[in-house]
Amino acid sequence: MRILVVGGAGYVGSHMTKLLRETRHEPVVLDNLSSGFREAVLGAELIVGHLADRMLLERVLRERRFDAVMHFASSIQVGESLADPARYYRNNVAATLNLLECMVHAGVSCLVFSSSAAVYGEPARAPLDEDHPRAPVNPYGRTKWMVEQVLGDFDRAYGLRHCCLRYFNAAGADPAGLLGERHDPETHLIPLALRAAGGALPALQIFGTDYDTPDGTCIRDYVHVADLCRAHLLAIERLLGGAPSRAYNLGNGAGYSVRQVVEAAGRASGRPVPVIEAPRREGDPTRLVADASRARAELGWRPKYDLDAIVRHACAWEQRSARRRVPAAPSAVRS
Ligand code: UDP
Repeated sequence: MRILVVGGAGYVGSHMTKLLRETRHEPVVLDNLSSGFREAVLGAELIVGHLADRMLLERVLRERRFDAVMHFASSIQVGESLADPARYYRNNVAATLNLLECMVHAGVSCLVFSSSAAVYGEPARAPLDEDHPRAPVNPYGRTKWMVEQVLGDFDRAYGLRHCCLRYFNAAGADPAGLLGERHDPETHLIPLALRAAGGALPALQIFGTDYDTPDGTCIRDYVHVADLCRAHLLAIERLLGGAPSRAYNLGNGAGYSVRQVVEAAGRASGRPVPVIEAPRREGDPTRLVADASRARAELGWRPKYDLDAIVRHACAWEQRSARRRVPAAPSAVRS
């Protein structure tokens, strides 16, 4: 399959590009490098450009004859989306609309879209299945739900078939150690906990200890990035086989509290994680756990990695990245 990987220099997109290469497909990455990294694109062509660049998109889609598009590019921070919603509607909705129209013009009719558990908002039940009401509670989640609705309309009107993959908490790193999570600034729990354990941060802040959970901290469903990527491959194969559009939850179905993740980070790094208890972070639901039985039944997707494996792989990646961040010793100065 020849696949356009939009946002393929970012966290999940770069792992996907690597998997596509390993499975003998032909990925081409389109990324504006606003939050992705050139060196994360392993063994694939990188086109540097923005989704809002209509002429570029029209040309790339017309000339390359892609079988499908995988769309990973988006702004992803809930807090930032509350402070600067315009950026989220522009990057996540308007730019995606541009991509979809260009796909229709070029006759590319299959898309896998990175959606999010944020489309559900504050859960009315746990675990969450795909039919749970979509009632996002922040602009980030609303952008993902809007795109899902646009996709439904594009399917009905233009026959653009799609899979919306609703990620729970994407985490971990390439098991072979070549890629990992890299955000600037980093806001995610697992990398920050590992940095605190390694001494790169004075302490991890635990956002809220008064939630209605057994230990008072938020519960999330952490899913390995490599498992997410395998689900994308299964989804695109299913679409290209003629299956109808569908949304799938991607999570392990197991919920872990922030404190449990902190303990796992301590085990993986061999050092305790220093923590500070801090107020709740705005926009954080108490508990998000996936019912991923639809992906299991229809895609045959079974996540391979549990929380300990996720944190172990993330730890190996953090330790490598920390070594790279240490400046080389100055070379001898000649007088
Ligand atoms: N979290 C935390 N301290 C941090 C970062 C995150 O306590 O420095 C908590 C956050 O409140 C949430 C969970 O960890 O309950 C996962 O947050 P993350 O930002 O990794 O992912 P999100 O759930 O926002 O997608």
